[in-house]
Amino acid sequence: MFADLHLHTQFSDGTYTPVELVAQAQRYGFRAIALTDHDTVEGCPPTAQACADAGIEFIAGTELTAEQEGHELHILGYCVNTGDPKLLSEIAKFQVVRQNRIREMVARLNQLNVPLRAEAVFDLANCRAPGRPHVARALVAARLCASLDEAFERFLKKNRPAWVPKFKMSASMAIKLIQDAGGAAVMAHPGLNHSDELIPAMAEAGLDGIECFHTKHSTSTAQHYLQLADRFHLLVTGGSDCHGVSKGHPVIGSVRLPYQHVEKLKARAALYQARAAASSADQASSASTVHSNGSQI
Ligand SMILES: [Zn+2]
Ligand SMILES: [Zn+2]
Repeated sequence: MFADLHLHTQFSDGTYTPVELVAQAQRYGFRAIALTDHDTVEGCPPTAQACADAGIEFIAGTELTAEQEGHELHILGYCVNTGDPKLLSEIAKFQVVRQNRIREMVARLNQLNVPLRAEAVFDLANCRAPGRPHVARALVAARLCASLDEAFERFLKKNRPAWVPKFKMSASMAIKLIQDAGGAAVMAHPGLNHSDELIPAMAEAGLDGIECFHTKHSTSTAQHYLQLADRFHLLVTGGSDCHGVSKGHPVIGSVRLPYQHVEKLKARAALYQARAAASSADQASSASTVHSNGSQI
């Protein structure tokens, strides 16, 4: 029994629809999958439905872009309540930041005499959390670049002429946002971030786990993070980070996380869900206290 806890769909920068993604998961015989689209939870309800139809357990998730001491970090949230008002309002703010960033990148491309229109990127992305891969795909679709690699190398990579820095929340804020929405917070693909020195402080700040198994982690990298997880009492997760067929062949199936880790993750999230329920019950009772005091006056 295995799981893949890191997957994307068209609701962010993946190419699969929820139904296509779940068909792939079924092909590889996964017992459970988590959807972790960037800065959105919009794809969770349709993916949950597709999983229910396929007899696969679904875990609602997201991948928030955050920053800590100058490092960009991705924080995965698992078992979040996808209707949590605070989570949704914060995500909406980051979606606006993403949309403005697309306009800024297109303006820079236009200054470089690359005639791309922002609408072409938004039409192609057709989601609320557009990102650089969508700009790259629009450049290729408009025959302004020959390949996605060329688009990144010439224009979109960090410090290239059309690159625009992105405003990010702090990692500790991302952790709190996820936990307050009843989810467990996990540092994504630490092997790609080169920021191991941040892990002790993040564990201190309440981080629940680290993604030890990832398509781009070698066996020795995975071993290294398993040791760190043990040392800092962090949960272990893993996933393929499959974005569909946009970057060559799909990578789903390359990471198979033993299901026991999913059980631990769910048990941790259940603690946050209980805490969130208790705090909303508190708020409801203090609201009614105010109301009854008000009517006494
Ligand atoms: Zn990521
Ligand atoms: Zn990802």
